[in-house]
Amino acid sequence: MATDKYIKNYINGALLPPDSGAYFDNYNPATGKVYSQIPDSDAKDVQLAVEAAERAFPAWSKTDVNTRFRILARIADIIEQNLEEFAKAETIDSGKPIKTSTTIDIPRAHQNIRFFATAVLHFASESHHMPGEAINYTLRQPIGVVGCISPWNLPLYLFTWKIAPALATGNCVIAKPSEMTPMTAFLLAKACMEAGLPDGVLNIIHGYGPKAGQAIVAHPKIKAISFTGGTETGKKIIQTAGPMFKKMSLELGGKNPNIIFADCDFDEMMIGTLRSSFTNNGQICLCGSRIYVERSIYDKFKTEFVKRTRFLKVGDPFSTVTDMGALVSKAHMEKVMSYLALAEVEGGTILCGGKPVKVKGEYEEGYYLSPAVIEGLPIGCRTNQEEIFGPVVTITPFDKEEEAIAMANGTQFGLSATVWTKDITRANRISEQLHAGIVWINCWLLRDLRTPFGGVKASGVGREGGLEALRFFTETKNVCVKY
Ligand code: NAD
Repeated sequence: MATDKYIKNYINGALLPPDSGAYFDNYNPATGKVYSQIPDSDAKDVQLAVEAAERAFPAWSKTDVNTRFRILARIADIIEQNLEEFAKAETIDSGKPIKTSTTIDIPRAHQNIRFFATAVLHFASESHHMPGEAINYTLRQPIGVVGCISPWNLPLYLFTWKIAPALATGNCVIAKPSEMTPMTAFLLAKACMEAGLPDGVLNIIHGYGPKAGQAIVAHPKIKAISFTGGTETGKKIIQTAGPMFKKMSLELGGKNPNIIFADCDFDEMMIGTLRSSFTNNGQICLCGSRIYVERSIYDKFKTEFVKRTRFLKVGDPFSTVTDMGALVSKAHMEKVMSYLALAEVEGGTILCGGKPVKVKGEYEEGYYLSPAVIEGLPIGCRTNQEEIFGPVVTITPFDKEEEAIAMANGTQFGLSATVWTKDITRANRISEQLHAGIVWINCWLLRDLRTPFGGVKASGVGREGGLEALRFFTETKNVCVKY
C-alpha cells in the first residue's frame, strides 16, 4: 500500500485521475517542499461519483448489518496493520509529530470505524403504543447518497468519524478530505479496495473546497452534508444546502475557554493546560486558547506555565523528542503570525514564543513557530474573539466565578470548555451555565465515542458521536398501525 506521487480519486471502486487531468501541489510542511500531486477535481468527478453511489445504494442499503459490520471491520484491521505507513503519511502531510500520528490520529481512525461498525449491530428504534387503539413504530432508514467533508487538522481521524457512521447505517458516501492533507484518505481508498467494500459505496474526491467541495454540497442527489471545518465555510455550506433542504451536521470553529480555580490540583492542571494549549500546535478545534486563572494563583500559574511552554521542543516531526512539529502550511503560519502582531497592537504582552523557529538540514524551509503565551488583553479584542488555530494562548486573571463565566461565554463560539477545580459542586454549577457543547472538568480531550459531540452558537449545528451520528445518517419515519 505504497504512497504514490499522484494521488487518485476513488470512484466506483477504482482509483481514477481527475476528469480534467489537472493536479496541484501537495506540500510537506516540515520541509516546505512539494512532495506529491493532488487531483484538481470538479463537478464532473463529483457527478461520476454520485452516479456510482446511486447505483450502489439499493444493494448496500439492503445488505444485512452483519455483512456491513464485517467489511467495515476489515477496513479497520487493514489500517491497524499498516499503522506505520498511515502514521508516516499523516505526519508528512500535516507536519505533526510522528508520535502523535502513531498514538492518536491513526489509532483513532480504526477505532472510529470499528466503533460504528459494531454500534449499528445494537442500533434499535422506538415504538409508541396507544393502548387499545394502535401501535406506532419508528423506522430509521438510510438517507441515500450523503456528503462528508473534513478538515486538515486531524485528517484521517475526522474523515473516518463521518464516513464510518454513514456507511454503517447503509448510506453511500461522497467524501472529500482537506486539500492540505489528502494522503491518508488515498490510503483509505486502497484499504477499502483490499477489504472488498462494494464498488461505489464510498467515493473519495480530492480537490479544492470551493470547487470539488462546493460541487458536493450543491449536488441535488446528495441529500445530507456532514461537514467539519471553519465557521465561514460552514456559512457558505448553509447558503447552498439550506435552500435545498438538505440535512446538515456542521462542526465548526472554536475559541475555547479554560477556567482555572485556585483550589485545583496544580500539577495536574499544569500538565492538562499545556496539552490543551499546544497539542497538535494548537490546531485542534477543542484546544483551550483563552485561559482564565483565579487571581490568587495567577502569578504562580504564569511563571510555571511560561517556563514549561519555553521548554517544549519544536522541530523535526520524525524525531521522538519533538513536542511540536510544523504548522500545516505557509499561509496558515502567516495567519497565526498576523494574530501575534495584532495582539501587540491591541496592547497584549507576548510573554514567550511567537517567533519562527529555524530547524536545521532538510527542515530549514519548514513552517515552525515557537508556542506563544500572551497576557494583558481584554475579552472584547480580536485576539480573544477570533479563532487563531495555532500555538497561541492568552492568559487573564479573574476574581469571581461569575466574571470567569461571563468571559468564557463572551465570544460567538461555543464548542468546548475546561474547568479545573476540586469543588465538584462549583464545577457542576458552572458546567450548566457554560455556552458549550462539551465541558471537561479536571481533564481535557478525554473522549468516550458514545458521547454527543458538537458545538453551540457559531461552533456548529447538530451533534456527532454515538447514537447522534447514527440518527443523523438515517431518516426517521413513523408508521402508525391501527388494530
Ligand atoms: P475549512 O473550512 O477551510 O475546510 C474544511 C473542508 O471544507 C476542507 O475539506 C475544504 O476543502 C472544504 N471546503 C472549503 N470551502 C468549501 C466550500 N465552499 N464548500 C464545500 N467545502 C469546502 O477548514 P480547515 O482550515 O480545513 O480546518 C480548520 C477549521 O476546522 C477550524 O476552524 C477548526 O476549528 C475547524 N474544526 C472543527 C472541528 C469540530 O469538530 N468542531 C474539528 C476540527 C476542525
